[in-house]
Formats: sequence, C-alpha cells, structure tokens
Amino acid sequence: MKQFVIIGLGRFGSSLGQELVQLGYEVLGIDKNEETVDDMSRVLTHVVAADATDEETLRALGVRNFDCGVVAIGDDIQASILATIQLKDIGVKKVVAKALSELHGRVLEKLGVDRVIYPERDMGIRVAHQLVSPNLLDYIELSKEYTIAELAVPSCLNGKTLQDINTRARFGCSIVAINKPKGGVIIAPTAVEELEEKDIMVVIGTNEQIEKFEASVA
Ligand code: ATP
Ligand code: ATP
Ligand code: CA
Repeated sequence: MKQFVIIGLGRFGSSLGQELVQLGYEVLGIDKNEETVDDMSRVLTHVVAADATDEETLRALGVRNFDCGVVAIGDDIQASILATIQLKDIGVKKVVAKALSELHGRVLEKLGVDRVIYPERDMGIRVAHQLVSPNLLDYIELSKEYTIAELAVPSCLNGKTLQDINTRARFGCSIVAINKPKGGVIIAPTAVEELEEKDIMVVIGTNEQIEKFEASVA
C-alpha cells in the first residue's frame, strides 16, 4: 500500500490529500499552520503541525519511509525549495512539487524532482480548450500532434451510427470508445454502433482532425 506525505495543506495540498484518502491511501499531511492542521485532522490519516523545511522534523516523522512526497507550498518559494531538497536528501522515492511560475519550476527540476506541477497554469489551459469546444469534456495530449478527447455527443448526432457520421473517412479521427450512461462502456465500437445524446465518445486523432470533427457538429 502506497503512503504519501503532503507538505503544505493549502487548497491544492488539502484537495490532493483528501482525494488520495478517498482512493484508499495513507496520507501524512504537514503544515506549519496549526489551524490548517486542525481542519485537516479528520480528513487525512495523520497530520502534523511543523516547519517542513527542518531536516530534524522530517527525520523524526519517518518521512524517508514514504513512497511519494508532494511539496504543495506555492507562495513561499524559499520554503518550497527547502522542503523539496529535504525530501530529496532524505531519500523519498518519488518527489512531486508544485510550482507557481516557470522559473520556480526550473529550480525544482534542477533539484531532481520527478514531476513539477503547475495547477493554475494547467487548469487555465484546460478550461480555455473547454470554453472554445463546448462538447469537450476532457482530453489527454499524447504528443504535440495527437490527442485523445472525451466529447459529449451533441443532439445533432442523436440516433446516428458511426457509419453515418463516418468520422474516420471524413476527418481521419477514430472513435475508440462510447460511454453510455445506461448501457456502460463500448470499447472499439464498430460502424453499426449508434450514438445517443448524453453519451460520451472518446476520439483519437490529430488535433486538427478532432477540431474539424468538432466544428462539423458545433
Ligand atoms: P494553494 O493555492 O494550494 O492554496 P498556495 O499556492 O497559496 O496554496 P501557500 O499558501 O504558500 O501556497 O502554501 C500552502 C500551505 O503551505 C499553507 O497552508 C502554508 O501554511 C503551508 N506552508 C508554507 N510554508 C511551510 C513550511 N515551511 N512548512 C510547512 N508548511 C508550510
Ligand atoms: P475503415 O477502414 O475506416 O474502418 P471500413 O471500410 O472497414 O472502413 P466500416 O468498418 O464498415 O468500413 O466503417 C465504415 C465507416 O464508418 C468507416 O469508413 C468510418 O468512417 C466509420 N467508422 C466505423 N467505425 C468507426 C470508428 N470507431 N470511429 C470512427 N469512424 C468509424
Ligand atoms: Ca495560491
């Protein structure tokens, strides 16, 4: 069973910790603010009020035995960097850190973190895509060119088969799954499969192919 330590229980750190606990994992949350720690004591497996830039504190808490450490301090860049270097030196296997700016992220990368996350920047990008494509629910960028997109089936496609909408022939993108709220998920649907409004279709293709398909039903 994986164990996580989260440093900084602001909005990001606390939401991350709560979700990990709900997924069934053990989470130790550390924050220097006593009130914040109190608030999270019923949510996380363990909480400690401490300064996470202090090596002795981290050692005493047995932080080295955790599989993954997340530094979720943002505003105080100095604290973020110091806490990150402590986790790396103590030997936490996987270290993830949140960055507020590109430069902050570059420093964290130089410290050897496994992953830098930019929650505000990434959420901004994601929401921009969703705002310009009203049917887009979510997406994964496979590369600069290729994407897997989750699209809500618009009413104009209600009752149409994949043969009818013919996306592979018309645009080059393929529908790799259809999630039907009532009927479950159909993986690798064939040409006879029918779409209904409220279904979610999972489309794979180049960004351009998917955009053209979306534009054709908008
Ligand atoms: P969010 O956007 O997730 O709310 P933020 O980017 O505004 O967070 P901060 O408010 O700077 O980030 O930090 C998040 C939490 O980290 C705060 O609850 C703060 O008390 C805690 N924190 C800051 N420095 C330390 C430290 N040295 N040791 C432990 N916790 C710290
Ligand atoms: P293809 O080689 O493109 O699969 P096909 O000649 O084998 O075409 P069918 O499998 O019967 O023909 O499909 C007819 C058309 O329906 C395809 O050309 C394609 O445009 C569309 N189609 C079928 N399945 C899908 C799918 N999963 N995603 C997107 N389009 C599909
Ligand atoms: Ca913030």
